[in-house]
Amino acid sequence: MNIVGLTIETLHRALQAGETTVREVCERVLERIDALDGTIGAYLTVDGERALQRADALDRERREGAPLKPLTGVPIAIKDNICTRQLRTSCASRILHNYVPPYNATAVERLLDAGAVIIGKTNCDEFAMGSSNENSAFKIVRNPWNPERVPGGSSGGSAAAVAADLCVAALGSDTGGSIRQPASLCGVVGLKPTYGRVSRYGLVAFGSSLDQIGPITKTVRDAARVLRVIAGRDWHDSTSSNHEVADYEAALDGELKGIRVGVPREYFGQGLDEEVKRAVVMAIDRLADLGAEIAEISLPHTEYAIACYYIIATAEASSNLARYDGVRYGYRTARAGNLREMYRRTRDEGFGAEVKRRIMLGTYVLSAGYYDAYYLKAQKVRTLIQRDFTQAFAQCDVIAGPTSPTVAFRLGERTDDPLKMYLSDIYTITANLAAIPGISIPCGLSRDGLPIGLQLLGRRFDEATLLRVAHAYEQAYPFEHKPALEMSGS
Ligand code: GLN
Repeated sequence: MNIVGLTIETLHRALQAGETTVREVCERVLERIDALDGTIGAYLTVDGERALQRADALDRERREGAPLKPLTGVPIAIKDNICTRQLRTSCASRILHNYVPPYNATAVERLLDAGAVIIGKTNCDEFAMGSSNENSAFKIVRNPWNPERVPGGSSGGSAAAVAADLCVAALGSDTGGSIRQPASLCGVVGLKPTYGRVSRYGLVAFGSSLDQIGPITKTVRDAARVLRVIAGRDWHDSTSSNHEVADYEAALDGELKGIRVGVPREYFGQGLDEEVKRAVVMAIDRLADLGAEIAEISLPHTEYAIACYYIIATAEASSNLARYDGVRYGYRTARAGNLREMYRRTRDEGFGAEVKRRIMLGTYVLSAGYYDAYYLKAQKVRTLIQRDFTQAFAQCDVIAGPTSPTVAFRLGERTDDPLKMYLSDIYTITANLAAIPGISIPCGLSRDGLPIGLQLLGRRFDEATLLRVAHAYEQAYPFEHKPALEMSGS
Protein backbone atom coordinates (compact mmCIF):
# COMPACT_ATOMS: atom_id res chain seq x y z
CA MET A 1 0.00 0.00 0.00
CA ASN A 2 1.51 3.28 -1.11
CA ILE A 3 0.35 6.07 1.15
CA VAL A 4 1.85 8.94 -0.82
CA GLY A 5 -1.06 11.02 -2.01
CA LEU A 6 -3.55 8.81 -0.18
CA THR A 7 -6.87 10.59 0.45
CA ILE A 8 -9.92 9.61 2.48
CA GLU A 9 -11.62 8.79 -0.78
CA THR A 10 -8.88 6.54 -2.17
CA LEU A 11 -8.28 4.94 1.22
CA HIS A 12 -11.94 4.00 1.50
CA ARG A 13 -11.95 2.60 -1.99
CA ALA A 14 -8.97 0.40 -1.10
CA LEU A 15 -10.57 -0.74 2.17
CA GLN A 16 -13.82 -1.46 0.38
CA ALA A 17 -12.01 -3.55 -2.22
CA GLY A 18 -10.15 -5.45 0.48
CA GLU A 19 -6.80 -4.24 -0.89
CA THR A 20 -5.57 -3.04 2.47
CA THR A 21 -6.40 -2.93 6.15
CA VAL A 22 -6.58 -0.08 8.61
CA ARG A 23 -3.60 -1.59 10.38
CA GLU A 24 -1.48 -1.67 7.25
CA VAL A 25 -2.24 1.96 6.46
CA CYS A 26 -1.46 3.05 10.00
CA GLU A 27 1.80 1.12 9.97
CA ARG A 28 2.83 2.78 6.73
CA VAL A 29 2.00 6.20 8.13
CA LEU A 30 3.97 5.52 11.32
CA GLU A 31 6.95 4.25 9.30
CA ARG A 32 6.89 7.36 7.22
CA ILE A 33 6.77 9.54 10.31
CA ASP A 34 9.75 7.61 11.64
CA ALA A 35 11.67 8.15 8.46
CA LEU A 36 10.82 11.77 7.72
CA ASP A 37 9.58 13.60 10.76
CA GLY A 38 13.00 13.90 12.34
CA THR A 39 13.66 16.44 9.59
CA ILE A 40 10.22 17.97 9.17
CA GLY A 41 9.18 18.29 12.83
CA ALA A 42 5.44 18.18 12.17
CA TYR A 43 4.57 16.11 15.25
CA LEU A 44 5.03 16.94 18.91
CA THR A 45 3.57 13.62 20.01
CA VAL A 46 3.07 10.44 18.00
CA ASP A 47 0.54 8.07 19.52
CA GLY A 48 1.64 4.99 17.59
CA GLU A 49 0.74 2.23 19.98
CA ARG A 50 -2.79 3.41 20.61
CA ALA A 51 -3.28 4.12 16.92
CA LEU A 52 -2.37 0.53 16.07
CA GLN A 53 -4.64 -0.86 18.77
CA ARG A 54 -7.49 1.17 17.42
CA ALA A 55 -6.64 0.11 13.87
CA ASP A 56 -6.90 -3.54 14.93
CA ALA A 57 -10.24 -2.89 16.62
CA LEU A 58 -11.57 -1.23 13.47
CA ASP A 59 -10.33 -4.07 11.27
CA ARG A 60 -12.02 -6.53 13.61
CA GLU A 61 -15.31 -4.65 13.37
CA ARG A 62 -14.99 -4.60 9.60
CA ARG A 63 -14.40 -8.35 9.48
CA GLU A 64 -17.54 -8.77 11.56
CA GLY A 65 -19.45 -6.92 8.89
CA ALA A 66 -19.53 -3.34 10.11
CA PRO A 67 -20.00 -0.88 7.25
CA LEU A 68 -17.54 1.94 6.65
CA LYS A 69 -18.34 5.05 8.61
CA PRO A 70 -17.39 8.42 7.07
CA LEU A 71 -13.84 8.30 8.46
CA THR A 72 -13.27 4.65 9.25
CA GLY A 73 -9.55 3.97 9.44
CA VAL A 74 -8.48 7.45 8.41
CA PRO A 75 -5.19 8.41 10.11
CA ILE A 76 -5.74 11.95 11.35
CA ALA A 77 -3.36 14.36 13.05
CA ILE A 78 -4.64 16.85 15.60
CA LYS A 79 -3.14 20.27 16.24
CA ASP A 80 -1.69 20.39 19.72
CA ASN A 81 -4.05 23.09 20.96
CA ILE A 82 -7.04 20.73 20.62
CA CYS A 83 -7.67 18.54 23.64
CA THR A 84 -7.27 14.79 23.34
CA ARG A 85 -8.06 12.52 26.25
CA GLN A 86 -4.99 10.94 27.83
CA LEU A 87 -2.82 12.40 25.13
CA ARG A 88 -0.58 15.33 25.89
CA THR A 89 -1.90 18.67 24.64
CA SER A 90 0.84 21.25 25.08
CA CYS A 91 -0.18 24.08 22.71
CA ALA A 92 3.54 24.00 21.86
CA SER A 93 4.08 25.89 25.12
CA ARG A 94 6.37 25.23 28.02
CA ILE A 95 3.57 26.23 30.34
CA LEU A 96 1.50 23.21 29.23
CA HIS A 97 4.44 20.91 28.49
CA ASN A 98 3.02 18.17 30.70
CA TYR A 99 -0.72 18.77 30.33
CA VAL A 100 -2.73 15.63 29.64
CA PRO A 101 -6.42 16.48 29.20
CA PRO A 102 -9.05 14.31 30.89
CA TYR A 103 -11.44 14.87 27.95
CA ASN A 104 -11.66 15.11 24.18
CA ALA A 105 -12.59 18.24 22.28
CA THR A 106 -16.00 17.78 20.69
CA ALA A 107 -14.42 17.85 17.21
CA VAL A 108 -12.08 15.02 18.24
CA GLU A 109 -14.92 13.04 19.80
CA ARG A 110 -16.85 13.35 16.54
CA LEU A 111 -13.87 12.21 14.47
CA LEU A 112 -13.56 9.14 16.68
CA ASP A 113 -17.30 8.43 16.43
CA ALA A 114 -16.88 8.56 12.65
CA GLY A 115 -14.13 5.91 12.80
CA ALA A 116 -10.98 8.02 12.56
CA VAL A 117 -7.62 6.97 14.00
CA ILE A 118 -5.72 9.69 15.87
CA ILE A 119 -2.07 9.39 14.87
CA GLY A 120 -0.66 12.16 17.01
CA LYS A 121 -0.51 15.81 17.92
CA THR A 122 0.99 18.37 15.60
CA ASN A 123 3.41 21.16 16.22
CA CYS A 124 2.19 24.76 16.04
CA ASP A 125 3.04 28.26 17.13
CA GLU A 126 2.75 28.59 20.90
CA PHE A 127 -0.96 28.98 21.72
CA ALA A 128 -1.54 29.36 17.96
CA MET A 129 0.11 32.78 17.93
CA GLY A 130 2.15 33.15 14.79
CA SER A 131 2.35 32.70 11.04
CA SER A 132 5.48 30.59 10.65
CA ASN A 133 5.48 27.93 13.37
CA GLU A 134 8.71 29.46 14.66
CA ASN A 135 7.00 30.34 17.96
CA SER A 136 6.75 26.71 19.05
CA ALA A 137 8.52 26.30 22.38
CA PHE A 138 9.82 22.90 21.30
CA LYS A 139 11.01 22.85 17.71
CA ILE A 140 10.57 24.38 14.29
CA VAL A 141 8.68 22.75 11.42
CA ARG A 142 10.33 22.62 8.03
CA ASN A 143 8.27 23.07 4.90
CA PRO A 144 8.19 19.72 3.05
CA TRP A 145 8.66 21.59 -0.23
CA ASN A 146 11.90 23.18 0.92
CA PRO A 147 13.51 22.52 4.30
CA GLU A 148 14.89 26.06 4.49
CA ARG A 149 11.39 27.53 4.40
CA VAL A 150 8.64 27.89 6.99
CA PRO A 151 5.48 25.80 6.64
CA GLY A 152 3.35 28.78 7.70
CA GLY A 153 1.43 28.94 10.91
CA SER A 154 0.09 28.60 13.29
CA SER A 155 -1.12 25.13 12.19
CA GLY A 156 2.23 24.53 10.49
CA GLY A 157 2.63 20.98 11.78
CA SER A 158 -0.81 19.95 10.56
CA ALA A 159 -0.25 21.40 7.08
CA ALA A 160 3.25 19.93 6.80
CA ALA A 161 2.02 16.52 7.97
CA VAL A 162 -0.69 16.46 5.30
CA ALA A 163 1.67 17.73 2.58
CA ALA A 164 4.34 15.13 3.46
CA ASP A 165 1.82 12.28 3.76
CA LEU A 166 2.51 11.82 7.46
CA CYS A 167 -1.26 11.49 7.90
CA VAL A 168 -4.25 11.51 5.58
CA ALA A 169 -5.99 14.54 7.06
CA ALA A 170 -5.51 16.90 9.99
CA LEU A 171 -7.33 19.34 12.20
CA GLY A 172 -6.06 22.86 12.61
CA SER A 173 -7.43 25.97 14.23
CA ASP A 174 -7.84 29.37 12.64
CA THR A 175 -8.06 32.63 14.58
CA GLY A 176 -6.65 34.86 11.86
CA GLY A 177 -5.57 32.49 9.11
CA SER A 178 -3.86 29.64 10.88
CA ILE A 179 -5.52 26.94 8.79
CA ARG A 180 -5.58 28.68 5.43
CA GLN A 181 -2.12 30.26 5.40
CA PRO A 182 -0.10 27.11 6.23
CA ALA A 183 -2.31 25.14 3.83
CA SER A 184 -1.39 27.66 1.15
CA LEU A 185 2.33 27.55 1.95
CA CYS A 186 2.34 23.73 1.98
CA GLY A 187 0.22 23.14 -1.14
CA VAL A 188 -2.80 21.53 0.54
CA VAL A 189 -6.45 22.35 1.21
CA GLY A 190 -7.40 24.24 4.39
CA LEU A 191 -10.89 25.25 5.43
CA LYS A 192 -11.87 27.68 8.16
CA PRO A 193 -15.57 27.23 8.83
CA THR A 194 -18.05 29.96 9.76
CA TYR A 195 -17.71 31.06 13.39
CA GLY A 196 -20.00 28.73 15.34
CA ARG A 197 -20.06 26.00 12.68
CA VAL A 198 -17.71 23.73 14.64
CA SER A 199 -17.76 23.48 18.43
CA ARG A 200 -14.84 25.14 20.19
CA TYR A 201 -15.23 22.90 23.22
CA GLY A 202 -11.78 21.54 23.95
CA LEU A 203 -10.00 23.99 21.67
CA VAL A 204 -7.61 25.87 23.94
CA ALA A 205 -8.86 29.44 23.72
CA PHE A 206 -6.79 32.14 22.02
CA GLY A 207 -9.26 34.72 20.67
CA SER A 208 -12.63 33.33 21.63
CA SER A 209 -14.65 35.48 19.22
CA LEU A 210 -12.39 34.48 16.31
CA ASP A 211 -11.26 30.87 16.89
CA GLN A 212 -12.56 28.00 14.75
CA ILE A 213 -11.42 24.42 14.24
CA GLY A 214 -11.28 23.16 10.66
CA PRO A 215 -9.83 20.49 8.36
CA ILE A 216 -6.55 20.43 6.45
CA THR A 217 -6.70 17.82 3.70
CA LYS A 218 -5.31 16.79 0.34
CA THR A 219 -8.55 17.36 -1.57
CA VAL A 220 -11.65 19.51 -1.37
CA ARG A 221 -13.82 16.41 -1.14
CA ASP A 222 -11.92 15.25 1.92
CA ALA A 223 -12.39 18.69 3.52
CA ALA A 224 -16.14 18.44 2.86
CA ARG A 225 -16.20 14.99 4.47
CA VAL A 226 -14.33 16.03 7.61
CA LEU A 227 -16.34 19.24 7.99
CA ARG A 228 -19.61 17.35 7.92
CA VAL A 229 -18.38 15.08 10.68
CA ILE A 230 -17.16 17.81 13.02
CA ALA A 231 -19.80 20.51 12.36
CA GLY A 232 -22.98 21.12 14.29
CA ARG A 233 -24.49 22.26 17.53
CA ASP A 234 -22.81 21.17 20.74
CA TRP A 235 -24.28 21.95 24.11
CA HIS A 236 -20.76 22.29 25.54
CA ASP A 237 -20.23 25.42 23.42
CA SER A 238 -22.98 28.02 23.57
CA THR A 239 -21.54 29.79 20.51
CA SER A 240 -21.94 26.69 18.35
CA SER A 241 -24.77 27.07 15.89
CA ASN A 242 -28.03 25.22 15.34
CA HIS A 243 -27.81 25.98 11.67
CA GLU A 244 -28.42 22.77 9.73
CA VAL A 245 -25.28 20.89 8.68
CA ALA A 246 -25.44 20.38 4.93
CA ASP A 247 -24.33 17.28 3.09
CA TYR A 248 -21.24 19.09 1.87
CA GLU A 249 -20.06 16.23 -0.29
CA ALA A 250 -23.35 15.93 -2.12
CA ALA A 251 -23.18 19.67 -2.72
CA LEU A 252 -19.81 19.41 -4.49
CA ASP A 253 -21.23 18.51 -7.85
CA GLY A 254 -22.81 21.23 -9.79
CA GLU A 255 -21.86 23.77 -12.33
CA LEU A 256 -20.26 27.08 -11.77
CA LYS A 257 -22.63 28.70 -14.23
CA GLY A 258 -24.48 31.45 -12.43
CA ILE A 259 -21.99 31.62 -9.56
CA ARG A 260 -20.78 35.18 -9.08
CA VAL A 261 -17.15 35.51 -7.98
CA GLY A 262 -16.17 38.85 -6.47
CA VAL A 263 -12.57 40.00 -6.78
CA PRO A 264 -11.70 42.63 -4.17
CA ARG A 265 -9.63 45.47 -5.52
CA GLU A 266 -7.92 45.83 -2.12
CA TYR A 267 -6.49 42.30 -2.27
CA PHE A 268 -4.26 42.93 -5.27
CA GLY A 269 -2.35 46.03 -4.24
CA GLN A 270 0.89 46.80 -2.53
CA GLY A 271 2.70 43.98 -0.76
CA LEU A 272 1.40 41.22 -2.99
CA ASP A 273 4.20 39.25 -4.57
CA GLU A 274 4.10 39.37 -8.39
CA GLU A 275 4.28 35.62 -8.84
CA VAL A 276 1.49 35.02 -6.36
CA LYS A 277 -0.58 37.68 -8.07
CA ARG A 278 -0.07 36.12 -11.48
CA ALA A 279 -1.07 32.65 -10.31
CA VAL A 280 -4.16 33.90 -8.48
CA VAL A 281 -5.30 36.06 -11.39
CA MET A 282 -4.90 33.05 -13.66
CA ALA A 283 -6.94 30.91 -11.25
CA ILE A 284 -9.72 33.49 -11.30
CA ASP A 285 -9.65 33.52 -15.13
CA ARG A 286 -10.02 29.78 -15.00
CA LEU A 287 -13.08 30.11 -12.78
CA ALA A 288 -14.51 32.35 -15.47
CA ASP A 289 -13.72 29.68 -18.09
CA LEU A 290 -15.65 27.23 -15.95
CA GLY A 291 -18.72 29.42 -16.17
CA ALA A 292 -18.47 31.70 -13.14
CA GLU A 293 -19.23 35.40 -13.55
CA ILE A 294 -16.39 37.57 -12.31
CA ALA A 295 -17.02 41.01 -10.84
CA GLU A 296 -14.69 43.50 -9.26
CA ILE A 297 -15.78 44.40 -5.75
CA SER A 298 -14.46 46.53 -2.93
CA LEU A 299 -13.79 45.79 0.74
CA PRO A 300 -12.91 49.36 1.68
CA HIS A 301 -11.94 48.79 5.31
CA THR A 302 -9.32 46.14 4.55
CA GLU A 303 -6.47 48.52 5.39
CA TYR A 304 -7.63 48.68 9.02
CA ALA A 305 -7.94 44.93 9.43
CA ILE A 306 -4.45 44.19 10.78
CA ALA A 307 -4.66 46.85 13.47
CA CYS A 308 -8.20 45.81 14.36
CA TYR A 309 -7.31 42.12 14.57
CA TYR A 310 -4.16 42.62 16.62
CA ILE A 311 -6.14 44.62 19.19
CA ILE A 312 -9.10 42.26 19.49
CA ALA A 313 -7.10 39.02 19.31
CA THR A 314 -4.53 40.18 21.87
CA ALA A 315 -7.23 41.54 24.20
CA GLU A 316 -9.01 38.20 24.18
CA ALA A 317 -5.72 36.32 24.51
CA SER A 318 -4.62 38.35 27.53
CA SER A 319 -7.82 37.41 29.27
CA ASN A 320 -7.84 33.76 28.15
CA LEU A 321 -4.22 33.18 29.15
CA ALA A 322 -4.71 34.54 32.67
CA ARG A 323 -5.62 31.01 33.76
CA TYR A 324 -2.06 29.72 33.37
CA ASP A 325 -0.79 30.53 36.82
CA GLY A 326 0.94 27.34 37.91
CA VAL A 327 -1.80 26.45 40.37
CA ARG A 328 -4.01 23.79 38.84
CA TYR A 329 -2.12 22.36 35.90
CA GLY A 330 0.86 22.82 33.66
CA TYR A 331 4.26 24.20 34.47
CA ARG A 332 5.10 25.67 37.89
CA THR A 333 8.35 27.43 38.71
CA ALA A 334 10.69 25.66 41.10
CA ARG A 335 11.94 28.91 42.58
CA ALA A 336 9.34 30.90 44.43
CA GLY A 337 9.21 32.18 48.01
CA ASN A 338 5.59 33.28 48.01
CA LEU A 339 2.42 33.11 45.92
CA ARG A 340 2.90 36.30 43.92
CA GLU A 341 6.40 35.31 43.04
CA MET A 342 5.16 31.88 42.05
CA TYR A 343 2.65 33.40 39.60
CA ARG A 344 5.19 35.80 38.18
CA ARG A 345 8.00 33.30 37.74
CA THR A 346 5.73 30.58 36.40
CA ARG A 347 4.42 32.89 33.70
CA ASP A 348 7.83 34.37 33.00
CA GLU A 349 9.45 30.95 32.60
CA GLY A 350 6.43 29.26 31.01
CA PHE A 351 5.50 31.64 28.18
CA GLY A 352 7.60 32.45 25.12
CA ALA A 353 8.39 35.93 23.84
CA GLU A 354 5.52 36.23 21.34
CA VAL A 355 2.92 35.10 23.85
CA LYS A 356 4.23 37.61 26.37
CA ARG A 357 4.14 40.34 23.75
CA ARG A 358 0.49 39.57 23.06
CA ILE A 359 -0.49 39.40 26.71
CA MET A 360 1.09 42.81 27.25
CA LEU A 361 -0.52 44.33 24.16
CA GLY A 362 -3.88 42.88 25.11
CA THR A 363 -3.67 44.03 28.70
CA TYR A 364 -2.74 47.50 27.50
CA VAL A 365 -5.64 47.89 25.07
CA LEU A 366 -8.09 46.72 27.75
CA SER A 367 -6.72 48.93 30.52
CA ALA A 368 -9.08 51.57 31.88
CA GLY A 369 -7.32 54.55 30.34
CA TYR A 370 -6.95 53.07 26.86
CA TYR A 371 -10.03 50.87 26.48
CA ASP A 372 -12.04 53.42 24.49
CA ALA A 373 -9.15 54.46 22.29
CA TYR A 374 -8.15 50.93 21.32
CA TYR A 375 -10.46 48.08 22.23
CA LEU A 376 -13.74 49.91 21.73
CA LYS A 377 -12.50 51.52 18.54
CA ALA A 378 -11.37 48.16 17.20
CA GLN A 379 -14.81 46.70 17.88
CA LYS A 380 -16.35 49.48 15.81
CA VAL A 381 -13.91 48.85 13.00
CA ARG A 382 -14.78 45.17 13.20
CA THR A 383 -18.41 46.11 12.52
CA LEU A 384 -17.33 48.12 9.48
CA ILE A 385 -15.34 45.16 8.17
CA GLN A 386 -18.36 42.92 8.65
CA ARG A 387 -20.47 45.45 6.77
CA ASP A 388 -17.98 45.43 3.88
CA PHE A 389 -18.63 41.72 3.48
CA THR A 390 -22.40 42.01 3.79
CA GLN A 391 -22.35 44.58 1.03
CA ALA A 392 -19.97 42.53 -1.09
CA PHE A 393 -22.11 39.41 -0.79
CA ALA A 394 -25.03 41.35 -2.21
CA GLN A 395 -23.03 41.42 -5.44
CA CYS A 396 -21.35 38.03 -5.41
CA ASP A 397 -21.58 34.50 -3.98
CA VAL A 398 -17.91 33.95 -3.21
CA ILE A 399 -14.90 36.22 -2.99
CA ALA A 400 -11.61 35.13 -4.57
CA GLY A 401 -8.07 36.32 -3.93
CA PRO A 402 -4.68 35.25 -2.61
CA THR A 403 -4.41 33.44 0.73
CA SER A 404 -0.97 34.81 1.55
CA PRO A 405 0.87 37.72 -0.05
CA THR A 406 3.98 35.59 -0.53
CA VAL A 407 5.02 31.97 -0.90
CA ALA A 408 6.71 30.25 2.04
CA PHE A 409 9.42 32.53 3.39
CA ARG A 410 12.82 31.54 4.78
CA LEU A 411 13.15 30.27 8.32
CA GLY A 412 14.32 33.18 10.45
CA GLU A 413 13.45 35.78 7.83
CA ARG A 414 10.75 37.53 9.85
CA THR A 415 11.44 36.49 13.43
CA ASP A 416 13.11 39.79 14.34
CA ASP A 417 10.29 41.89 12.97
CA PRO A 418 6.88 41.05 14.49
CA LEU A 419 5.13 43.72 12.42
CA LYS A 420 6.38 42.19 9.20
CA MET A 421 5.10 38.83 10.41
CA TYR A 422 1.69 40.33 11.30
CA LEU A 423 1.36 42.02 7.90
CA SER A 424 1.43 38.67 6.14
CA ASP A 425 -2.01 37.93 7.66
CA ILE A 426 -3.75 40.68 5.71
CA TYR A 427 -5.93 38.47 3.46
CA THR A 428 -6.95 35.94 6.07
CA ILE A 429 -7.83 37.85 9.25
CA THR A 430 -10.86 39.64 7.79
CA ALA A 431 -12.77 36.35 7.53
CA ASN A 432 -12.34 35.78 11.27
CA LEU A 433 -13.34 39.35 12.09
CA ALA A 434 -16.46 38.89 9.93
CA ALA A 435 -17.12 35.31 11.12
CA ILE A 436 -17.36 34.04 7.52
CA PRO A 437 -15.91 30.80 6.11
CA GLY A 438 -12.79 30.65 3.95
CA ILE A 439 -10.87 27.98 2.09
CA SER A 440 -7.40 27.86 0.59
CA ILE A 441 -6.63 25.54 -2.31
CA PRO A 442 -3.38 25.17 -4.22
CA CYS A 443 -3.39 26.96 -7.58
CA GLY A 444 0.20 26.92 -8.76
CA LEU A 445 3.90 26.76 -8.06
CA SER A 446 6.41 29.59 -7.95
CA ARG A 447 9.59 29.53 -10.00
CA ASP A 448 11.33 28.19 -6.90
CA GLY A 449 8.88 25.33 -6.75
CA LEU A 450 6.84 26.62 -3.81
CA PRO A 451 3.04 26.30 -3.67
CA ILE A 452 0.68 29.24 -4.15
CA GLY A 453 -2.79 29.28 -2.62
CA LEU A 454 -6.10 30.64 -3.90
CA GLN A 455 -8.44 31.79 -1.14
CA LEU A 456 -12.21 31.72 -1.49
CA LEU A 457 -14.44 33.39 1.07
CA GLY A 458 -18.16 32.74 1.43
CA ARG A 459 -21.31 33.87 3.18
CA ARG A 460 -21.91 32.78 6.76
CA PHE A 461 -22.86 29.09 6.88
CA ASP A 462 -22.48 28.76 3.13
CA GLU A 463 -19.53 26.39 3.22
CA ALA A 464 -21.39 24.35 0.59
CA THR A 465 -20.94 26.98 -2.13
CA LEU A 466 -17.35 27.57 -1.12
CA LEU A 467 -16.57 23.88 -1.37
CA ARG A 468 -18.41 23.54 -4.64
CA VAL A 469 -16.41 26.30 -6.32
CA ALA A 470 -13.16 24.96 -4.87
CA HIS A 471 -14.02 21.45 -6.03
CA ALA A 472 -14.88 22.56 -9.56
CA TYR A 473 -11.53 24.32 -9.77
CA GLU A 474 -9.66 21.33 -8.40
CA GLN A 475 -11.36 18.92 -10.80
CA ALA A 476 -10.62 21.05 -13.83
CA TYR A 477 -7.11 22.06 -12.78
CA PRO A 478 -5.78 19.38 -10.47
CA PHE A 479 -2.67 20.32 -8.50
CA GLU A 480 -0.46 17.43 -9.45
CA HIS A 481 2.75 18.45 -7.77
CA LYS A 482 4.20 16.78 -4.70
CA PRO A 483 7.16 17.76 -2.58
CA ALA A 484 10.23 15.67 -3.33
CA LEU A 485 10.81 13.73 -0.14
CA GLU A 486 13.25 10.90 -0.21
CA MET A 487 12.52 7.98 2.02
CA SER A 488 14.57 4.86 2.27
CA GLY A 489 12.65 1.72 1.48
CA SER A 490 9.57 3.22 -0.22
N1 GLN B 1 -1.05 34.64 12.31
C1 GLN B 1 -2.14 35.11 13.11
C2 GLN B 1 -1.66 35.42 14.50
O1 GLN B 1 -0.51 35.32 14.70
C3 GLN B 1 -3.25 34.10 13.12
C4 GLN B 1 -3.04 33.01 14.09
C5 GLN B 1 -4.18 32.03 14.11
O2 GLN B 1 -5.03 32.03 13.23
N2 GLN B 1 -4.21 31.24 15.16
O3 GLN B 1 -2.41 35.76 15.36
